[in-house]
Amino acid sequence: MDCIFCKIIAGEIPSPHIFEDEACIAIRDINPQAKVHCLVMPKKHIANLTEASADPELLGKLMAACAKVAAQEGIAESGYRVATNCGENACQSVPHLHFHVLGGEKMGERMS
Ligand code: AMP
Repeated sequence: MDCIFCKIIAGEIPSPHIFEDEACIAIRDINPQAKVHCLVMPKKHIANLTEASADPELLGKLMAACAKVAAQEGIAESGYRVATNCGENACQSVPHLHFHVLGGEKMGERMS
C-alpha cells in the first residue's frame, strides 16, 4: 500500500519512533505547528477516526499513548492538545489515522 505512514512504521522512510508499543508509534511532525508537535498512529493501516470507531479498544490504546507521549515530551503539566482530522472538510492530508499531540506553548482558544 502506498501509505507514507505505513512506510515510516515499517522503517522504509526514516523518522525516529519517539514512542512505540504493541499498537502504535509516535513520531515528530515534519512541519511542526507548535513547539511540541508529535503524531501518534496505529501500526495497523486504518484510514481515519470513522473507520477506527469499529475498534474502540485500539482507540483507547491510542489515547493512552497520546498521554504518554505528552508526559515523555514534558508537556503533561503545562497542558497539551490532542486532535485528529477526519476527511476532506477537516483537511486530513494523510489517510492513515493519526492524533496530533501539540503543546509546549500557549495555544489559541479556537479549534478551527
Ligand atoms: P493531517 O493533515 O491531519 O492528515 O496531518 C498530517 C500531518 O503529517 C501533517 O501535520 C504533516 O506535517 C505530517 N507529515 C507528513 N509527512 C510526514 C513525514 N514524512 N514525517 C512526519 N510528519 C509528516
